[in-house]
Amino acid sequence: MGSSRISKIIANDREYLCENYGERLPIAFTKGDGSYLFDQDNKKYIDFFSGIAVNSLGYSNPDYKKALHGQIDKIIHSSNWFHNQEQIEAAKLISENSFPGKTLFVNSGTEANEAAIKLVRKYGLSISRKKFEIITFKDSFHGRTFGSMSATAQKKIHSGFGPILPGFTYLPFNDIKAFKKAMKKDGKIAGVMIELIQGEGGINVADPDFIKEIFETCNKKGIVTIVDEVQTGIGRTGKVFAYEHYGITPDIITIAKGLGGGIPVGAIHSKNYLAQYFTPGSHGTTFGGNHLATAAVAAVLKEIRKKSFLAKVNNSSEYIFKRLRDIKSKSKYIVGIRGLGLHIGFEIAEPGLELVKEALKHKLVINFTANNVIRIMPPLNIDIDSLKEGMDILEKIILEKNIRDENTQDKD
Ligand code: PLP
Repeated sequence: MGSSRISKIIANDREYLCENYGERLPIAFTKGDGSYLFDQDNKKYIDFFSGIAVNSLGYSNPDYKKALHGQIDKIIHSSNWFHNQEQIEAAKLISENSFPGKTLFVNSGTEANEAAIKLVRKYGLSISRKKFEIITFKDSFHGRTFGSMSATAQKKIHSGFGPILPGFTYLPFNDIKAFKKAMKKDGKIAGVMIELIQGEGGINVADPDFIKEIFETCNKKGIVTIVDEVQTGIGRTGKVFAYEHYGITPDIITIAKGLGGGIPVGAIHSKNYLAQYFTPGSHGTTFGGNHLATAAVAAVLKEIRKKSFLAKVNNSSEYIFKRLRDIKSKSKYIVGIRGLGLHIGFEIAEPGLELVKEALKHKLVINFTANNVIRIMPPLNIDIDSLKEGMDILEKIILEKNIRDENTQDKD
């Protein structure tokens, strides 16, 4: 019965949807509750994925739902021809939770980075005809439109699309020497764009010394610093923004994913000296910052600023790291553990898909990236019982894998 339902969904998917996402996992979620998801057959799963770090408040936060329902009843969209009070409130909250500046709302992380690239170029070119280059880092991920794809220093993302946008220099991540060398042609460099934890690249955490060098140099030379907080922002790392861990303030942050708690919305927030380069007509989007999207932003930000919300994120993080270290001590299957807050990755000794499928069979949703890095990114407000339940499943399947692998080796 269950399998026939999913078979029909898969057949319809093949008939009507583009195949750019490859073979999807054979589950169609139909509802969520707290940190749990329910599939087409009403089977219940623990969510350690949050729809790629999007469902920051899980699936049934009462204040978030109330704000969205209330907004739907009032108005969803009016356009940027008119003032929009929800947009103003959301922008004010972003400023108050980051640094003074101005916000432009867009619809995704890609679009936020696209806007950042345009802003940095416009600013750089206003200083010198040659100043439009942006440094980004190997294994970064900034998006898939032409600008953000070109900023993404991964060949596989560029493949098949012909010439990418000029004006990007790719440097190795966490390599101070290479950065210093690149700074020798600093006359051309308008900006440096970086993820402080490379998410899609494999949960690679930036070294504090590396970031210090970049920010000190850029601040001295008037080079714009852009921190891509699309995956790390909005409480994911245990602070509202990941840059706070490094004692720096960027000139620009780009935000999306958890920002709307599931409603598609992105934003670029920049210091005033830069924001003024978005002159009338220089950039825009029809949907950007509509009433519903920005009501969601305000609801999410108010929630994560509630007393003890981030402390709970940090407690949950500590619990997961402790459990992972414990599992690692019992199994060679885990090769490395890294991350911050609830943005956690562990490297395993084989491609990640097998473990992801095994976990799904046991009703746990996890994800992998960069071939063999398993990502744990539960809703930020997940409770300790659900965390324990998920970690118990993970431990069981990893330790069983160990036994199976040892048995297989014995047979060889
Ligand atoms: N920047 C980072 C760091 C990301 O992780 C992603 C998506 O994974 C993007 C940008 C692109 O965001 P979106 O998929 O919303 O366009």
